Parts: sequence; structure tokens; C-alpha cells
Amino acid sequence: MTEQVRRVSCIVCPISCQGEVVFENGQIKEVRGFNCPRGKAYAQTEVTAPKRMLTSTVKVKNGTIPLLPVVSKQPLPKGKIMDCAKALREVCITAPVKEGDIVCPNILGLGVDIIASRDLAAAN
Ligand code: SF4
Repeated sequence: MTEQVRRVSCIVCPISCQGEVVFENGQIKEVRGFNCPRGKAYAQTEVTAPKRMLTSTVKVKNGTIPLLPVVSKQPLPKGKIMDCAKALREVCITAPVKEGDIVCPNILGLGVDIIASRDLAAAN
């Protein structure tokens, strides 16, 4: 039997628990060292299919500022984050915008919407 241990830092809350995922013959055998079930779930996802929230900005027409902060409604596959950020460079919306408005639905067909992080009033 081949056992491997991968250390994982939980980023779900500010406590930042350090835990370990133990593999045996390529399969997860044990997840240990986290203070709560959320950390255990995070570690399992992190070593199998890691995900991250995306925060960025998109261009705005007729807004009081030229860029609108946006965020993904759910975490996206970590390996697609740069592609999503690149896709958002092509997005331009028109003010006014309300916090939570969808500015890019189903980005890259990944099933996750990109939403406004704040209200943005129209300039006129
Ligand atoms: S394991 Fe739980 S308590 Fe520890 S950082 Fe993650 S969410 Fe916070």
C-alpha cells in the first residue's frame, strides 16, 4: 500500500485551519485536522476538483464610474478562472445597475452567473 499525505489550508473562514488529506493507492482514505465539516468538505474538493470565487470588474456605459465590481455567484473551477476573467474583459453593461444583477449569465457555459457586487447609478 502506498500512502501519501497532502497538506491543505482551509480558506472557508478566517481561522485558516491546516489539515491533511491522506491518500492510499490514489484514493482518499482520511481527511483530518480541520475544526469543522466545512473544512473537511473544502479539502476533499480542493484535492479532487478545486474551485475558487472570481472577483473582477466589467466596463460600464453611462455610469458614475467606468468599471463595475463583479463576483461569481458560486465558485468556479480553478482551472477556468483565467478564461472567465478574459471573457469578462469583453463585457460592457449600461448603468444603472443594482447589486446582485446578473451581468454575465452562465459564464463560459459553466453554470455560474457573474453578478454585480454593488449598485451603480447612471450618470444622467
Ligand atoms: S475547518 Fe472550519 S473552522 Fe477551520 S478554517 Fe475551515 S471553515 Fe474555518
